[in-house]
Amino acid sequence: MMHKKYSTIAKHFIPISRFLYIYKGAEIVPYTHKIHKSTFSTVTRGNYNSLKSKDVDFFSSLLGSSRIIQNVEELEAYNIDWLRSHKGSSSIVLRPKTTEEVSEILKYCNKQKLAICPQGGNTGLVGGSIPIFDEIVVSMSLMNKIIHFDDTTGILQCQSGCILETLENFVNEKEFTVPVDLGAKGSCQIGGNISTNAGGLRLIRYGSLHGNVLGLKAVLPNGDILDCMNTMRKNNTGYDLKHLFIGSEGTLGIVTEAAILCYPKSSDTAVAFLGCNSFQDVMNTAKIVRQKLPQLLSSLEMLDDQAADTVRDNLKLSIPIATHPFYVLVEISGSDSSYNEQKLNECLSFLMEHNYINDGTIATEPSRIKVLWSIRERITEALLQEGCGYKYDISLPLSDFYKIVEVMRERLGRRVTRCVAYGHVGDGNVHFNATTRTFDPEVLALIEPFIYEWTSKRNGSISAEHGIGYKKTKYLHFNKSNDAINLMRSMKKLMDPNGILNPYKGSPGRRYVASLLLVFQEELDILRYSEKRMRRDTIADTDSDIVWHL
Ligand SMILES: Cc1cc2nc3c(=O)[nH]c(=O)nc-3n(C[C@H](O)[C@H](O)[C@H](O)COP(=O)(O)OP(=O)(O)OC[C@H]3O[C@@H](n4cnc5c(N)ncnc54)[C@H](O)[C@@H]3O)c2cc1C
Repeated sequence: MMHKKYSTIAKHFIPISRFLYIYKGAEIVPYTHKIHKSTFSTVTRGNYNSLKSKDVDFFSSLLGSSRIIQNVEELEAYNIDWLRSHKGSSSIVLRPKTTEEVSEILKYCNKQKLAICPQGGNTGLVGGSIPIFDEIVVSMSLMNKIIHFDDTTGILQCQSGCILETLENFVNEKEFTVPVDLGAKGSCQIGGNISTNAGGLRLIRYGSLHGNVLGLKAVLPNGDILDCMNTMRKNNTGYDLKHLFIGSEGTLGIVTEAAILCYPKSSDTAVAFLGCNSFQDVMNTAKIVRQKLPQLLSSLEMLDDQAADTVRDNLKLSIPIATHPFYVLVEISGSDSSYNEQKLNECLSFLMEHNYINDGTIATEPSRIKVLWSIRERITEALLQEGCGYKYDISLPLSDFYKIVEVMRERLGRRVTRCVAYGHVGDGNVHFNATTRTFDPEVLALIEPFIYEWTSKRNGSISAEHGIGYKKTKYLHFNKSNDAINLMRSMKKLMDPNGILNPYKGSPGRRYVASLLLVFQEELDILRYSEKRMRRDTIADTDSDIVWHL
């Protein structure tokens, strides 16, 4: 039975943005798990110069001392990633306010051969936003001006350091909404979203940032300002160079300004949280929801029972319906509340009649909608409290979407404390996570590269929305041909001949290739060790030959 009572769960709600803000406050790191470096230890530092006092003098004269951070305690928040999986050792953070200042910084660093790591809100999950060694961090957080909003066309122009939630609140006041939304909205910046081509919770409705970023300004590694600003919906005038910066994770330029297409905000939103007995029922539900609510659907998410357990156990959030193996979250938004209600009820009745869903609850008030959303949005945060996490963001055909979780559960057995899946079922994007109390190289060796090879064989993507960053460079070949990787390298070489911008990230460079042998040697050792253990433990493993051939 559908019911609309929420009084028991509302009190548990804590906005994700507040949590993230607390985290960004640096001195509070609410997790017990340790930073482990073992997966990062194989890359050697590039032939860059180290920071000298004359460099600091230059930056001070450009920015003033208040916009330079050198205090060890303050540096900590910029050196550690959100997942606490890596710690860099940068000794300086620069905080420009204008495109021209970014240009001066890059021009100087290029001449002096000083490596740079651009950083937005530092919520990235693949190690792209933190220095690997002592790169200079260029933080975009003071570039947070809204430049212009056209309330006829919905086109927003702003600096790239604007926090996503700030932009959303700003355009909401003008009855518009930003086309991207994600759990990290309280901390991530629009420049970071553009640079990672963030997908998030609304992609099913508004499409990706490749479609919604109309123009941008970027500073190239040599300091040149590339003005690709454009506020026209139509502009077919040769190569659309802005796309080079959407999803290239700060390896080709620093995005300083952008024009984003925003959409009229629907006055009425409803969220249904539904329980399903099997993944087949999740797929049936997804199909029917798409068919029956085509104009209204704004999000279509899923989580499994272990994801729900993690949120309940670690964050004390209540799951508002009886326990089910799977949950689906459907959000609709439109301008006519009675029409929305009628359509949603018709759809849910159909789903119940066909036994695709077994139970559910609907929220229409904003505060209660937030409560339901927090169950889905706070899974990443809940997982962090488990100890050590192994996090994967892959896309797969729906028929294989949950198979990978079953395969991994069998493969990992009792070595892990949890195997959890959730994600954007509307986009075929599953987030698979395993956890252990402390870092276990054997578990890592059982997951990687197996999961990427398995995904690649099914024509999926090894990184659906988080990017390649630092963590996935060595697995890029599972998705990109040699020709494509070579072209990526040539483009990097052309735009950044000294390789100063976000080195060790994105695509495997020469230095990476040089260290590849070391990586393989290290992996081989781990795999050999695991193989022996596997044989001894006689673990059933259908695809193990794939792993061992390395
Ligand atoms: C709780 C949580 C939920 C999340 N949910 C999602 C989700 O649903 N979908 C999704 O796609 N991601 C998600 N993420 C990942 C992350 O939030 C996104 O990748 C986000 O877009 C990163 O933005 P940021 O400002 O924090 O960038 P950062 O983490 O600071 O940087 C990310 C990358 O972009 C580069 N970069 C940052 N700013 C610039 C700039 N101005 N110019 C050039 N390069 C730059 C950095 O060098 C780095 O390589 C989530 C993360 C968390 C913690």
